[in-house]
Amino acid sequence: MAQITEGVYFIQGQDDFIPDSHAYVVGKPGSQDLSLIDAGLMGKGMYKIQSILNMGIELKAIKRIIMTHTHLDHIGCLAEIREQIPWAELWMHDIEAGPLEEGDERTVYGMEMFQNMCMMQYNLKPGAFAFHVEGRLHGEENLDIGGMTWDVLHIPGHSPGSIGLYNRLEKILIPGDVVYADYAIGRFDLHGANASELKNSLLHLAELEVDILLPGHNRIVTDLPAGYIADTATQWAPYLV
Ligand SMILES: [Zn+2]
Ligand SMILES: [Zn+2]
Repeated sequence: MAQITEGVYFIQGQDDFIPDSHAYVVGKPGSQDLSLIDAGLMGKGMYKIQSILNMGIELKAIKRIIMTHTHLDHIGCLAEIREQIPWAELWMHDIEAGPLEEGDERTVYGMEMFQNMCMMQYNLKPGAFAFHVEGRLHGEENLDIGGMTWDVLHIPGHSPGSIGLYNRLEKILIPGDVVYADYAIGRFDLHGANASELKNSLLHLAELEVDILLPGHNRIVTDLPAGYIADTATQWAPYLV
């Protein structure tokens, strides 16, 4: 785990047969009000917890887990992590919270063929991802957490309830799987995905000043060129109709 700035820590995903999402811990160290952003793939829970401990962060300082979205590679080890920090609340966008609480796992798995393969590979039972959600986000919130302000942006398209977290002061964007480094964007062929919504979400993000891009996979970027997200949106626009 690496410190990006004072109050933002990066835990690199440990890819398996399936990619493991990165996780981030946000909040000023003295606040005792930290948030874990995303969990990761099945079997990676102890790795994520150990990475947090290795940074000298006390687990009891983690007050909530905020999901950028509920795809399997982000939520797979949520139960493992919650066993270690059972007091932490679970926050996510309302649109993905409802189905999750009802045991509708279509967004988690994304497609039926993938669901069958994963359930066999990881011995998952139906209902493995039915969680109670304590915090339902809608976008447009300004969260004052951990001594920092994070704007919640609803950026659907990769999944219906994808959110980004944006720190205006330090120009940090955590966009989940909506936009990555190297002009890559999230896939838009899974359950609940929508290409034109993804285009609008990229255009929404393009309005922000972003220096530090902390996506769900692949490289993180700490010196993002101006106009990067706008350029990415332009490159992909012909495919996002
Ligand atoms: Zn992902
Ligand atoms: Zn995803």
